[in-house]
Amino acid sequence: MKILVTGAAGFIGSAACRFLIRKTNCSVVGLDALTYASSLDCLAEVNDGQRFVFERVDVCHPGEVERVFREHRPDAVIHLAAQTHVDRSIDVPGVFIQTNIVGTYTLLEAARHYWTSLDRADRDSFRFLHVSTDEVYGSLGAEGRFSEDTPYAPSSPYSASKASADHLARAWHHTYKLPVLVSNCSNNYGPYQFPEKLIPAMIMKGLRGEPLPIYGNGRNVRDWLYVEDHVEALYTILRKGRVGEKYNIGGNAERTNNEVVEAICAALDEFLPDAPHRPHRNLISFVADRPGHDLRYAVDSRKIRCELGWQPRTDFEIGLHQTVRWFLDNHDWSRLIWSSRYAGERLGLPAMEVVP
Ligand code: NAD
Repeated sequence: MKILVTGAAGFIGSAACRFLIRKTNCSVVGLDALTYASSLDCLAEVNDGQRFVFERVDVCHPGEVERVFREHRPDAVIHLAAQTHVDRSIDVPGVFIQTNIVGTYTLLEAARHYWTSLDRADRDSFRFLHVSTDEVYGSLGAEGRFSEDTPYAPSSPYSASKASADHLARAWHHTYKLPVLVSNCSNNYGPYQFPEKLIPAMIMKGLRGEPLPIYGNGRNVRDWLYVEDHVEALYTILRKGRVGEKYNIGGNAERTNNEVVEAICAALDEFLPDAPHRPHRNLISFVADRPGHDLRYAVDSRKIRCELGWQPRTDFEIGLHQTVRWFLDNHDWSRLIWSSRYAGERLGLPAMEVVP
């Protein structure tokens, strides 16, 4: 099977490419516009021109996206290309509308035209997996979990743009019969995550002895999933999922931000016994909350577990420990990003928006 992976040079996209090349006999076309959040280093071990080819293409560019379908003739698409940082979506929402909504529309249209040109057997087996987030469901209170039937109530420009893209994907199935599936996953963590996101940001700042800024009171809850478990779930949905269905993916690992940062500090203390800023937890500082910060996400993933037999393999504490170790062992990668593209500055706090 040949799979077109969009967002291939990003955090989850590159993990998907590495998984597909290492663990399956699929060949992969990796597509990415190479934005600030990407890194070709994440693909170095698979980018050998054998079963993997890379295309630098913007998903918003119809001519280029159509060319990729025409030249590579994929059997399936895993669509991950997106703008993904909630804080940036508060600062520059237009980029999120363009990439996440217009980009998804452009890809769906190119996929549809290509798919209609296929013969009957290839049309029947073709799949388009649109990868989305649990954030489309909005915020939970202390109880309950998101099911596939939970109504959409996105709160940030990021989650609203992803929700719109989900609706487009669903509509392209409903109207044109394009064989679409949608997945909604909880927060991922693991190797090569861009250091603007909570876990790598805290590791990087902790390593440098900088304050560890926790938004608000730190009691916001996220359900954490190791990235390799997520990509295995995506491959499972692609092979076994029912066309037209959506599947929630979660780690069953709800933690407050305070718990996550404390665990990172404990791992840094353990791995760096001679660090001058030990104990790292003394670096924690509470800062102004994100505007509209959702309180709690928790995912009910019984559908993918029961129907498709997927479940996460990685315990959160073990996965987090491995992730901290990975960032220490691959410090050159994150240090280069820190020195050239993003150095931990606060985003998503426009002065006029700060409401006590
Ligand atoms: P990421 O920001 O690390 O990677 C996104 C990739 O998309 C980057 O390599 C970027 O260059 C590429 N990209 C951006 N705009 C593009 C464009 N116009 N054309 C082509 N490529 C473009 O994000 P990620 O964390 O890997 O997330 C991937 C997908 O998974 C996103 O759709 C996101 O909404 C979804 N998701 C992420 C999480 C998470 O916790 N990270 C959870 C659930 C769902």
